[in-house]
Amino acid sequence: MHRFIINKQQQNNGDFEVHNATTGCSFMPQLQNQVELGFHDDCSGAVAKAKAANPTLRINGCYYCCRACHTS
Ligand SMILES: [Zn+2]
Repeated sequence: MHRFIINKQQQNNGDFEVHNATTGCSFMPQLQNQVELGFHDDCSGAVAKAKAANPTLRINGCYYCCRACHTS
């Protein structure tokens, strides 16, 4: 299980990015911009949880630490 967070700050392309807080990421947002998503087997569970909580937002996996969930 890995811990995931989502960045409260929107990316330039309109996405909100999910990062893996267990493996870490060079592009991890600042602590005050991280919203906890809890522990998931993989990024798809974390992205699904974030989408369920924020159905109107564009949510995407980080290219660097959640590449399997990166779509745009
Ligand atoms: Zn990342």
